[in-house]
Parts: sequence; structure tokens; C-alpha cells
Amino acid sequence: MVKYNPWDMACHQLDIVAEKISLDQGIHAKLRSCKRALIVSIPIRMDDGSVHVFEGYRVQHNLERGPAKGGIRYHPNVSLDEVKALAMWMTWKCAVVGIPYGGAKGGIICDPSKMSIAEIERLTRRYTSEISIIIGPEKDIPAPDVNTNPQIMSWIMDTYSMNIGYSAPGVVTGKPIEIGGSQGRLTATGRGVMFVVEEALKHLKILPKNCSVAVQGFGNVGSATARFLHELGCKVVAVTDVSGGLFNKNGLNIPELLEYVKTSPRKVIAGYKGGDFESNCKKANEELLALGVDILAPCALENQITKENASKVKAKIIAEGANGPTTPEADEILYQKGVFVLPDVLTNAGGVTVSYFEWIQDLQSHFWQLEDIDKELKRIMTNSFKDVVKISEKEKCNMRLAAYILAVSRVAHAVKLRGVFP
Ligand code: NAD
Repeated sequence: MVKYNPWDMACHQLDIVAEKISLDQGIHAKLRSCKRALIVSIPIRMDDGSVHVFEGYRVQHNLERGPAKGGIRYHPNVSLDEVKALAMWMTWKCAVVGIPYGGAKGGIICDPSKMSIAEIERLTRRYTSEISIIIGPEKDIPAPDVNTNPQIMSWIMDTYSMNIGYSAPGVVTGKPIEIGGSQGRLTATGRGVMFVVEEALKHLKILPKNCSVAVQGFGNVGSATARFLHELGCKVVAVTDVSGGLFNKNGLNIPELLEYVKTSPRKVIAGYKGGDFESNCKKANEELLALGVDILAPCALENQITKENASKVKAKIIAEGANGPTTPEADEILYQKGVFVLPDVLTNAGGVTVSYFEWIQDLQSHFWQLEDIDKELKRIMTNSFKDVVKISEKEKCNMRLAAYILAVSRVAHAVKLRGVFP
């Protein structure tokens, strides 16, 4: 089997759209490379007194439409190519929803589940110091991603502020409310997934109350997606996370499961009694991806629906809460099968959209009510869905290609307007 490389996949997706829209060769070449990639070594004193050197990255793919924006991931499988791909996807995501940012991403190769809170804090603070030469409220604004959270964003904000000598809340989003965070940011990505699914159901003339749902991943994105789809009236029949999978064809009690995970020591679904539990994560995912549900929401990691398992997918709609969960080969198989795939760059853009609201609030020191955030988020997600559907109907192509046509055209236009320096 050819080893999966997210950067090759991201470039391949760009090449497809470049051909489709006859993209200028120079602009294509520019968008096929990242503007900046910083590799940092992060020496940390561990709790046992030893020093461990971690490797971290911050990549800015494109800055033509505004400062760079993108999350920071802590995971053993982080690689430079993964971070580059995620940065490129951020460029497209910000362009699809029309917010004035370019794309960036960061990551550290580490396993936070094997580290103490104090070690994670030292890792975060040293990493922030190392990347502080390229981040800043006007330059590049990080946010949470896999295994990072509001507490980690607080340490980033504090470290950056200590280094420059004054508080700079606008350097990072996804912070706690008390230090300049936004109402609604914690659940924004899942809420955005729900708004896009709601529009898709209207488009396909399906009632939410007739829908069953399976969600892969029960972290920030997966748990909020499950919660809001449940509140929309759908029946969530399966969820998986790193500890295994829960299945209940009559519908899981999502509010109860959310409460259970919040209070469980490892913050996982294992041990919850309201469904059949499969403790082998690989087996649980295989079962979940092939379930006969209406909506499948991959909300964990990339490379989950591949050419090996795409033909087994029975869902009518795939709502990509995660970034890059479907490979290009799988996309083609799903399109042929008539599965309506809601692509990541559209579907999970609610997180960066509310991050944008948070950044505006920080810069203005003026904070909005939750109703205003939700209303504005709904407007942006709904309009973006409609923009993408319109292109997919006009070009007779799948929703991913349509979203890419919209995004790449917007970025290419900005590149053209700004010209080539010098
Ligand atoms: P998270 O760390 O909060 O949660 C990740 C979840 O995935 C956890 O429940 C974990 O147990 C689960 N998981 C890990 N490996 C798994 C496996 N093999 N099978 C099933 N579940 C597994 O991360 P998150 O912030 O929810 O991010 C999830 C995805 O969403 C990532 O692709 C991320 O890039 C993307 N995303 C996140 C945001 C955001 O605002 N946090 C925004 C847009 C996209």
C-alpha cells in the first residue's frame, strides 16, 4: 500500500481544481508551496529532572487575504507534511467562508496523554517563545486543534504577552472567556457542522427527525456535533473515540454521554453504560464507518475514509467535521455511489469563523452576546453552503470540488490583485 502523505493529497486536490478553472500557472505554483515553514526544537525539563527535546512546527501557507490563521496540534503522528497540508486547507477554508485570513497550522510531535499538566505547560510556553518570531495579532493567530484546548491557548497568550511586555489577547483564539475568549467558541465547530447539515437536509428534502447519525471522534468537534445534531432532532446511534465505540440503534442519550465524558478521568466514552461498547478502536471505527445511517460525521483525524473502505460506506451524507478525513480516491468512489459529501473546508469552518469573531472582539475590546455570535455564524455557514451548492450544480461536480473552485478562485484573485513582489 502506498504510504498516505497529507501534503501530496492537499497538492493533488489543488491540481484538480487548477485544471478545472484553468488556473494561471504562476499562481498555481505559488499556491502549491507554503510561504513559511518554521521548525523548532523544544527542550523541556520533564518532571523526573531529565531534559527531553521535542520537535514543533508552525507553517503559514498563504497570506494574500489577511493574516495567517490555524490551530495547533499535539500528537505523536504530527509531521511537517501534515502541518503543511493542514495549513493549505486553512487557506481554502477561510476563503470558502469569506473571512479575511490566510492559512496556517502548527504542531508538536508529542503524546500529551503521557505527560503531566506541568510538562504540557512548559512545552507550550517554550514552543510559543520559539514561534513568537512569526506569530502575532496582525501576523498569525493560532487556535486549538487536536489535543489542545482553552487552557493551552491561555498559556500561549500569556507567554507571548510576557515576551512583548503587554497583554495581547488577539494573538490566539479559543481562549477562556475571562481573558478575551468569545462566547460560543468552544462549541463553534460542531455548531457550524450542524448548520451545514441542516442546510444539506433542506436541500435534499430530508427531515432531521428521520435521520440517524454516526460520529467518529468525541472531542471538541465530535461531541459538539453529536450534541447539536441531537438537538436538531436527529438520532445519534454510534460514536467512537480513542477508547472504542458505543452503539445503540435506538439512539444514544447524548446529553447524558456528554456529562459522563466530562466527568470521566480520561475524558473518554469507555465505561458509559447506555449502549453496546466495542473496546477495540480499529474494529469500532470499521463498524461505524460502514453503518447504515443517514449522516456519517468523521470528527477525529484525517485519512479515515479511503479507497479500501469507501465502497462499504452506506451513509447518505458525510459531514466532515475533521480535516482531511476522506482521500481523493475515496471521494471519487463516494461520488459514484451518490453519497453527498459535505467537505471539511466548508463543514468545519464554524471554528475559524467564531475565532475570527473572537479576534475582532479582542482588537476592539468590545464583546458580543452569544445570540449575536450564533446568528452571525449561522448566516455565514448557511450562505457558504448555498454558494458551494450553486457552483456544484453549475459545474456538475461534487461539493468538495465546488468548495475548492470557490476558495481557490478567491485566493487566486487576491494573488493577482497584489501582484508579484518586487
Ligand atoms: P480533540 O483532541 O478535541 O478530539 C479528537 C477526538 O478524536 C477525541 O475524542 C479522540 O479520542 C478521538 N480519536 C483519536 N483517535 C481516534 C481514532 N483512531 N478513532 C476514533 N476517534 C479517535 O480534537 P478536535 O479539536 O475535536 O479535532 C478533531 C478534528 O477536527 C481534527 O481533524 C481537527 O483538525 C478538526 N478541526 C478542529 C477544529 C476545532 O475548532 N477544534 C476546527 C476545525 C477542524
